[in-house]
Parts: sequence; structure tokens; C-alpha cells
Amino acid sequence: MELLPDIDALARWRRDNPAPVLVPTMGNLHEGHLSLVRRGQETGQPVIVSIFVNPLQFGPAEDFSSYPRTLEQDLARLRPAGVAAVFIPSEQALYPCGREALTTVVPPAALTSRLCGLGRPGHFTGVATVVAKLLSLVQPGAAVFGEKDFQQLLVIRRMVQDLNLPVEIIAVPTLREPDGLAMSSRNGYLDAGQRKLAPLLYQVLCELAAASPNEADRHGVWSRLEAAGFQPEYLELFDAATLQPPQGKASLRWFAAARLGRTRLIDNVPVNPR
Ligand code: AMP
Repeated sequence: MELLPDIDALARWRRDNPAPVLVPTMGNLHEGHLSLVRRGQETGQPVIVSIFVNPLQFGPAEDFSSYPRTLEQDLARLRPAGVAAVFIPSEQALYPCGREALTTVVPPAALTSRLCGLGRPGHFTGVATVVAKLLSLVQPGAAVFGEKDFQQLLVIRRMVQDLNLPVEIIAVPTLREPDGLAMSSRNGYLDAGQRKLAPLLYQVLCELAAASPNEADRHGVWSRLEAAGFQPEYLELFDAATLQPPQGKASLRWFAAARLGRTRLIDNVPVNPR
């Protein structure tokens, strides 16, 4: 496994690996990230993982400075996974002119004006911008993203279409703990009591997805989350392709975000067609 600490090292590696598969991450890797790596390897192409905690996608009151940075542990997980290379750029390498007055990729409001876009203004601009930079530097044939961050996945797919970027976007289903909690680097913020409560978010989404869409159920679930100690941020049913309100026979998904103490959890589940 090659460690590529800068853009020159990446460019050298890239010459011998013309069509790699990119798995972009912010590190603190868990099995969910490794499932993206395995999916990338199914293409038969070398997999390159990037690790970069992107300041541009964090709001001023968010956890950028406390986000877990566990590089040695991450590398120890990636080595046995058969990853070909790990790109670990510095902030200076990705934002050479700083973050002020930066040219950014602004995804369409239709995808960012709801769900996480409401509570995290600028977040998806930060995500789209860093992913555009990574795609431009690595020039992969494909890049892998998790459905855990479903809105992010749609934003990236749309950016790739809008900018005619020559890359295939591969989506991987959410990997979960045995009790249903979606794996996430932020789960490490939960204390023991909160960790026990946390799977309720997935549980209620599954209940909503199994029922017919119904406002009373949604209000009931919201109250149950509050009574259990969550501070729900949103609980919404949307068209899984457009993030618009359900219409016709579109495939639908329930989306939720809620805080447990200082930890913000997000999850989503598909509504299976009846
Ligand atoms: P992050 O390091 O949190 O930015 O995530 C990097 C990539 O891993 C993103 O595409 C995420 O959607 C994906 N990911 C994170 N958690 C999971 C999970 N539990 N299952 C599948 N993919 C995940």
C-alpha cells in the first residue's frame, strides 16, 4: 500500500495506475468505509482511499477541530484490506490560495434546500468542492460513496452530470451495527447511555417505511424520539431521486437527523414498493 502525502506523489502513482477507483473519506475509518473499499475492488481496478477532514464542509459551530483524526489506526485497517494507495493531502495542497474567496462548486438548491442543507448552510458546497478537487487530482474511472449520506450521494451524482465529469459514481448501502445503528465516525461521541438509545432512529425509520405515508405517524415518531431524549432536526419522506415531495410512483425514502446530546446522527431507509 503506497502512502501519497502530496499531489506530486499522487501524480507519480497515477502514471502507473491509469483508472483507479477512488474512495473519499474523512478518516476514522470503520467497517462502513471498508465496505466501500470492497465494492471498489469488485471493479478489478486498484482502489485509492483519500483521507482529508475537509474544513470547507463544517459550519463555524460544528466539530471540525474535534473530529477524530486517527491516521495510524486508519492505515492499519487499510493495509490488510488490499488498498493500493492512500492519498493524505494537506489543507495547503487542496486549498493553495486559502479558503477566502474560493471558487466553489455550488450544487443546485433543489437538492440542498432540504434535509441537511437546512441546518448546515454551505455544507454541500464544501462537499461538492472538495470532491470535485479530489476527482480532478486522482482522475479515477469510478468513485464510491455510501448511501448513509444519501443527500451527499445525490449532490455528487448531480455535480458529475452537470460538469460532465468522466467518472462513474458507485453507491453502497449503509452498513449497520448489529442493533441497526448506522456505522459512523461520529458514533464515537456517544456515551454508553446514548449508544444504547441511538438505534431507535433506525427503528422508527423502518416503522415509517413499513407504513403508508401518514402525518399522524410522523408526528407520533417525532414525539417518541423527543421522549427518548433525541432532539429531532428533520423526519421527512422524499422522492429518492430528486429529494422533492412524493409524487406518483417514484421510489421514496425516509430521511432523519436528530441530536443525542452533542452528537448529530443521520440515517435514511428506502420505502419498498408494495
Ligand atoms: P466520511 O468519512 O464520514 O466522510 O464518509 C466517507 C464515505 O463513507 C461516504 O461516502 C459515506 O457515505 C460513507 N459511509 C460512512 N458511513 C457509512 C456506512 N455506515 N455505510 C456505508 N457507507 C458509509
